Amino acid sequence: MKIAVIGTGYVGLVTGTCFAETGNVVTCVDIDKLKVSKLSNGQITIYEPGLEKIFLRNLKENRLNFTSDLKDAICDAQIIFLALPTPPDADGSADLKYVLGVAETIGKLLTSYKIIINKSTVPVGTAEKVRKAIELNYDGDFDVISNPEFLREGVAVEDFMKPDRVVIGTKSVKAIDVMNQLYAPFVRQGNPVIFMDEKSAELTKYAANSFLATKISFMNEISQLCERLGADVDSVRKGIGSDDRIGKRFLFPGIGYGGSCFPKDVQALIKSASEVEYDFEILKSVEKVNAIQKRHLVSKILKYYKRGLRDLHFALWGIAFKPNTDDIRDAPALSIINELCELGATITAYDPEAMPNAKILLGDKIGFANNQYEALKDADALIVATEWSEFRTPDFNRIIDSLKDKVIFDGRNLYNSSTLKQHDIEYFSIGRD
Ligand code: NAD
Repeated sequence: MKIAVIGTGYVGLVTGTCFAETGNVVTCVDIDKLKVSKLSNGQITIYEPGLEKIFLRNLKENRLNFTSDLKDAICDAQIIFLALPTPPDADGSADLKYVLGVAETIGKLLTSYKIIINKSTVPVGTAEKVRKAIELNYDGDFDVISNPEFLREGVAVEDFMKPDRVVIGTKSVKAIDVMNQLYAPFVRQGNPVIFMDEKSAELTKYAANSFLATKISFMNEISQLCERLGADVDSVRKGIGSDDRIGKRFLFPGIGYGGSCFPKDVQALIKSASEVEYDFEILKSVEKVNAIQKRHLVSKILKYYKRGLRDLHFALWGIAFKPNTDDIRDAPALSIINELCELGATITAYDPEAMPNAKILLGDKIGFANNQYEALKDADALIVATEWSEFRTPDFNRIIDSLKDKVIFDGRNLYNSSTLKQHDIEYFSIGRD
């Protein structure tokens, strides 16, 4: 099939590349001309494990193309995916200006039947708005359907190639047939393609992310209780996670959820609910708990350094909002960095993949090291903010030799407190003090 993907960010590039990998001819469109030029020249623009290899292969085979010209991309395409940003508006609702703007332009360019598929995370009713935006300039036959994306950054290729499920919101028989063909190579093991109405599909994505955010905030509250009652959150986690109804995943406490999805999607669902006069109380608490948790590690640091943080220098391991990505959007590490800097501390950070993005955002606000041990130079203490694998079994002797105060503040519970005791390192983690 010939496919156009509009928006070539984390979702668009993975979507385009994976569809090309199954034999489709894909043209990805982006307004960012520098991005298009890099991608056209074989330079990948995001870090995502496993993506570069299939990106290069499909580029070479001419199954994957990049352009800034929407007309070029959609004239031959049967299917047009929208993978555009839906950032939070000032009031928390999802800003649809990118999606609706592109929809209006598509209306000007359509000359025959095409399926426009929304992969962006959008509020209930957006498919209808997209339809109306297209109809402003086109009165021929077309379908707009909802196909929310559930990939996780860091394992996006795996998630896309073998999705747990594919959700499709449409009642169009023509579109259902094309979607079944398109996704058949991805669900050969029998994972479901779930068809539903478009509103339910739109809500499914928000419900999924909000539920996961709820799990995280719940566990963070349990960790707060553990600290006050002298219980160990690792034991509690294992104790409840072995119950099938609860499940083992998403039960790790930490320094709050971040990234480009959970914070904005929780906010947008609260806002959508309020627009239909429903007060989504649980989600409001989820947000509140997350804001508290994002400050929790700094509270521990302030408790330890009672004299204040002026003139203290911290090594910080991990900036990305989670491991295996270079994405720093709404990363908890950024809250820690900003707060410590405001309190007069200085920081040298290291992240295996996110430093280019962090340098653009932070400039010379903090220093950057070439590796995790270089970050320790002249540091008073170490802060762990992202659970990259390479931070899990560090050389504690090198840490001791470098740090002025032998203390680690671990926001991801990577280490065993008895191991650190043996090394004479003071250790503060989440829900285990
Ligand atoms: P992103 O910011 O990484 O990418 C969006 C891209 O769209 C950018 O490259 C931008 O230049 C481009 N763009 C903006 N306006 C454009 C226009 N008019 N024409 C062409 N290109 C344009 O965003 P993302 O992380 O890929 O997210 C896209 C959507 O998918 C969002 O709604 C998000 O909530 C949703 N989503 C994201 C993830 C994720 O893990 N990142 C997962 C599932 C769903």
